[in-house]
Amino acid sequence: MSQIFKQKEVLINPKLFSPNSPPKKMIYNENGPAKILLDNNTIISGSCLHCPDTPCMKYKEEELINDTFMSFPQDNVSNVCPTEAITLDADSGAPTIDPNRCIACGICASRCPSGAIYFKTFGEKEQPQEVFAVINNDSSESFEICTQQDTSKTIEHIEENKILLESLPKEGLFIKEEDRIFDVIYSKMMSLKVDAQFPNLLTRNLLIQTGTSCAIRRKGDVNLRMDGVLGPPGTEAGVLEVELASMGILDSPRNMLDNIAVLNSRYNIKSKTLTPLIVSMSLANSRTEYYRVIRDIKNILNIKINTLTIGALFILIWNNKTFDFSNTSFYLDSENLSLRNMLEDIIGRKVLISEAFLSILETSK
Ligand code: SF4
Ligand code: SF4
Repeated sequence: MSQIFKQKEVLINPKLFSPNSPPKKMIYNENGPAKILLDNNTIISGSCLHCPDTPCMKYKEEELINDTFMSFPQDNVSNVCPTEAITLDADSGAPTIDPNRCIACGICASRCPSGAIYFKTFGEKEQPQEVFAVINNDSSESFEICTQQDTSKTIEHIEENKILLESLPKEGLFIKEEDRIFDVIYSKMMSLKVDAQFPNLLTRNLLIQTGTSCAIRRKGDVNLRMDGVLGPPGTEAGVLEVELASMGILDSPRNMLDNIAVLNSRYNIKSKTLTPLIVSMSLANSRTEYYRVIRDIKNILNIKINTLTIGALFILIWNNKTFDFSNTSFYLDSENLSLRNMLEDIIGRKVLISEAFLSILETSK
């Protein structure tokens, strides 16, 4: 039995958000829960509402529907956390995070309506040993445990709370994208024991949270080779190749051409209306033929293949940003080997990681 099914048996009373003045803004913080600024200028800390539908743990069915590719053999796994680090605590019934499995991707935090999920860094400031998410579960006058769990009035109140909190303007960030932080997170990702579906699941959830609908191929489906498809919002139609192993990325442009041919013949989707996207851990080395092939494909077939890294998507999530492929291109080739400007345009400030660090934004030579 999966951990999530086990946890459904644990019941917990929800918390109600009842501040003494209307909230007007949510400010995300490093090393602490979000601050909620009230109209009377007092500030309270975001706390777990014990949402009955646990958006930090599960996607709703409608969030996983891809309108463009209804017959795509999709994996409907509803896990938000790609490493299954979030579970419901067996004693309290509240969501809790296993620091040993958390890769600080920020996906759960970006779905939490009350800003209760934040990130802790352990070790020396200059050389942290660990970065992981934690959930603030403190009760206060503004976040009070509700005792009448089953009344429809309470459920209605909880939904109203969530809608109110979600609608607040957001500022700040979850994690500052520094070299030392990526060092810890990339090493942890490489050493973690994960399911074979992990690369696709991580990519799907990062894309959904940054604004693009994504469906990934069912595990074990051998009739289709592509890793996933994209759709609205974010793009009309798209196709996804995920390659987290460093050498595998070199085959991705050619695999992408196969995918485009299949989509054309089976789904009648023309290449000119398609957003092709390759996602990798790090960018391919500039001396490899990856960028030359991408350029040839553009020059000969007029198909622009986008390239993104997991790290670039983390930076967008940590800054709480979304994008749309209709007005954002992540096209890299032998003449442009950096994602930096594209990312800075979205987050509206300089990105802090050093040039070519772990090849997250620039290629190494
Ligand atoms: S952590 Fe956030 S999303 Fe998860 S149950 Fe608590 S309030 Fe809801
Ligand atoms: S930050 Fe990412 S890895 Fe960590 S608990 Fe949240 S979803 Fe899971």
